[in-house]
Formats: sequence, structure tokens, C-alpha cells
Amino acid sequence: MKIESRLAQIGSQSEPVTGAVSFPIYQATAFRHPRLGQSTGFDYSRTKNPTRAVLEQAIAELESGDAGFACSTGMAALQTVFALFGQGDHLLVSLDLYGGTYRLIEKIMSRFGVTATYVDTNDMDALESASRPNTKAIVVETPTNPLMMITDLEKVCGWAKAKGYVAIVDNTLLTPFFQRPIELGADIVVHSATKYLGGHNDVLAGLIVTKGKELSEQMAFLHNSIGAVLNPQDSWLLMRGMKTLALRMERHQANATAIAQFLLGHPMVEQVFYPALPGHPGHDIQSRQSSGNTGIFSFRMKDARTIEPILRHIRLIAFAESLGGVESLMTYPAVQTHADIPEDIRRQVGVDDRLLRFSVGIEHVDDLIADLSNAFDAAQAELA
Ligand SMILES: *Cc1c(COP(=O)(O)O)cnc(C)c1O
Repeated sequence: MKIESRLAQIGSQSEPVTGAVSFPIYQATAFRHPRLGQSTGFDYSRTKNPTRAVLEQAIAELESGDAGFACSTGMAALQTVFALFGQGDHLLVSLDLYGGTYRLIEKIMSRFGVTATYVDTNDMDALESASRPNTKAIVVETPTNPLMMITDLEKVCGWAKAKGYVAIVDNTLLTPFFQRPIELGADIVVHSATKYLGGHNDVLAGLIVTKGKELSEQMAFLHNSIGAVLNPQDSWLLMRGMKTLALRMERHQANATAIAQFLLGHPMVEQVFYPALPGHPGHDIQSRQSSGNTGIFSFRMKDARTIEPILRHIRLIAFAESLGGVESLMTYPAVQTHADIPEDIRRQVGVDDRLLRFSVGIEHVDDLIADLSNAFDAAQAELA
């Protein structure tokens, strides 16, 4: 079945007793055992909850994996995955990484003896020279946020496999609707489902998908042992959001492409970072490995002094952190999402004080362009 149909039908055929088209919320922590040594398959909701199980099965299938795990947030999902590693282990990690992931590795995982090297995951020589005898995994985001750098997943996951490393891909920005890393060789996919999967800026959630029996069993153990699981209400809310993922992603992409083109031709804008644009360095790889583009991109203004007034004058577009929801949000990465990344690394990847990140919503594109245009004009007038 096509992915649009599978998304719309999440949970709709999973309740045989009543035939409920929307899968029920099982707000229970414990389940009766018929007798000693028997179980309905459900014992305690941290281990397995019926509502969460439908969501986990759905994401595993959507990502072409073997098992799915729903966590309380994207960070909880990453923490659970990183618990695969311990004292003395080393990770290779994408440069221009989500700030929270960087903080988790540097401030928390480091206390457990896990170290990391940040590399351009598209530079095979750089990857090779950053490898160590104790390297255990590679952690990739593609596209990266905010600079939208693209990694060739097939090439890098193939290389990781030959080295015996676990290949972990954060697929938050594209979702399985546009990109399925496991089909390209990844072992583990992680999501901040708070973003496009949930899609409505109203639920925090994280998802993990594993490929292979051994990794799936290890992850089930960690997920249950750590306990940062998603509650039944939010599992339901997330499934409800995912049903419209295909429609939303198509509109996000169409709006973002039109706005990126508008900005590209604007005299106050220096550069636009969006892989859908033919001039983007990752355009060809992105077109090959994904069936579409995300609704988020970044752009660099020519004059840093225009940033503050632009953020003050946007009306329809909210100045807020986060991305991937139906409402458009503008972020200033240098002071918001990426503040925890040291300035030298930020500069190296290009997250500077003239960069804005735009998570384009599903409003009408004409209204979004008008809002930006007005804010630009007002900023220009203030500087004159
Ligand atoms: C937001 C985000 C996270 C963290 O997810 P939360 O749900 O906020 O905990 C991780 N990775 C990426 C790429 C993100 O955008």
C-alpha cells in the first residue's frame, strides 16, 4: 500500500472488538493476568501500552524497520539510543547538529565516558581520519538544521557498516514520507516527533526505529529500563497528527520552495540555504535519496542590524523556537536553538548573527510572503 494510505489508516484497523476507527486511549498502567504464568501481552504500561504499541508498530513500518519505540521527547529518544554506548566509546557526529543533541553528548554522555568527534559526514576522508579503534557509531542529520547540509546516506551508511559502526540517522526534518534512511542502510532512525510527525505545535514526543533483531531487543531493554516512554494520551495525539502527514508535507514543501525563491531574489538577502534550490551543494544527492524537501530552510541577511526589526515586525509568522508545525515560525539560531554550541563550531558551520531559520507552515503562501515583505520594508525604513 502507498504511504499516504498507510498514514491515513494508522490505528484504524487495530481495534477488533468495537471496530473503533480511531484507536482508543488505554489510560491504564497495569493489566490483569488471566492466571499465573499467563499474560494478555500487556503487563505494565512502561513496558508496553496498547495505544503506544499501535503508534510504535506504525512508525516501524513507515520507516521500513523492525521495531518502534515511542519516547516522551526527541531528546529522550536520543538519550535512550545513546545508552547503547558507555565508558571508552567514541562517536562520529554530523557537524551542524541540533543544539540539544550536541549538549546531550557533550554535557551528559561525556560523564559516562562517551566522546565524540564532529565531522562533515559527506567528506569520506574526514570521516576516515576521525575514526578511532574505539569508534562505535556514526550519528547523522540530513539535512542538517539550520544550514541544510546533505549527507549521502547510502555511501556513509555503507562505509559505517564496513567499519562495524552503528549508523544512526535523525530523520526529523524529512520524515518517512520523504526519506527512509533504513532503506539506505541505516541501523537506527530517531525522530523528534514534536516536529513534522505531530505537526501541530501541540505535542512533545520522540520516536526510535531499529533494524535487526539484536538492536531491536537491546532497544526494547533500554526503552523499558530508562522509562522515558510516551504516555497514552500523547501517543494518540501523535497518531492523530500523523494521519495528515502526507498532505502537510506536500504543502510545507510547496510553500517553502516558493518563499525560498522569493528570498533568493530579494536585495536584502545574501544567501538562501534550501536543498530544493538547484544551486544548493546537496541538491543532487537530496533529489536522489529523498522524494521531497522539508518545509524548513535558513537564509542569511546582508545586514545584521535588520534581524531585530524583522523579528519585531513579522505578524502572521511567529518569532518562536521549534519547527515542523502547521503554523509558521521564525527562529534566530545563534541565540535560540544553537546557543549551546560553542561559537567557534557555530562559525565554522556558518551559524552567525545574520542567519534566520524559517519553518514554513501551511498558511497561504501569498500571506506568508506579504508578511515577510512588510517586515523587510519596515526594517529597511528603520535603518534609513
Ligand atoms: C527538536 C529536535 C530534537 C529534539 O526533540 P524534542 O522533541 O524537542 O526533545 C532532536 N533532533 C532534531 C533534529 C530536532 O529538530
